[in-house]
Amino acid sequence: MKAACYFCNNDIPEGKVKRCSRCRLTIYCSKECQTASWKSGHRTICRPHPLFNAPDGTPMPKPEKFSNAWAEQQIEKRFDAWIQAWRGSFSQFAMMALDLPNHPCDRNMTHCMTLWVRVNEDPVARIRDFLIRKAGVRAIAELRREHSTLEDLLPAGSVDPTKVCYVVLLEDAQGRPRRAQYVQFEYGALEIWRHMPKDMYAGIPIDWSDVLKYVVDQSTPEETMVKLTSEV
Ligand SMILES: [Zn+2]
Ligand SMILES: [Zn+2]
Repeated sequence: MKAACYFCNNDIPEGKVKRCSRCRLTIYCSKECQTASWKSGHRTICRPHPLFNAPDGTPMPKPEKFSNAWAEQQIEKRFDAWIQAWRGSFSQFAMMALDLPNHPCDRNMTHCMTLWVRVNEDPVARIRDFLIRKAGVRAIAELRREHSTLEDLLPAGSVDPTKVCYVVLLEDAQGRPRRAQYVQFEYGALEIWRHMPKDMYAGIPIDWSDVLKYVVDQSTPEETMVKLTSEV
């Protein structure tokens, strides 16, 4: 599982991930990066995670093992780990989903790939802990309006023009969103994508969202990355 530091963007060696305990969303390679990130602005966008912290940011006492609160935290931790594992592949799919050659060039700021995910009740491996039920592209403003209960998890302020984002919504058994993870990534070649031929995907007979659902169900993040980076 490869993860990148939120601050310096370097790969974090396995087992060395440091996570912001307040929001649980940002990860770092070192204490130095975490401190620098906090000072350079993370403090203004960091919002306490509702399952692990009180609204003022103080950590909540550890729930009793096998209690409901404990089970919720376990799902949360697995959800984090699952997104970390698929992060690279999801970023590639987010670029296909946004289809910048055929849309206004600021689409990465107004729209995002959205994945609706549910718990896999019978996973054969950790990598299959969650299944993608639906994948699409949504206007960020619309998403905010529709999921007002998740508002706290979406970062305040506008989207960085050099970045691309996607949202992973975890549904409960009734299909209601119970958690959202917002992932933003730097895409160095954004300008190249904007100037690609408009018919670049014309020859691809299947929809990106079907491919995404298939790989998450059948493939591993490593295999998927090899395929995506050699074919696109
Ligand atoms: Zn770092
Ligand atoms: Zn934070």
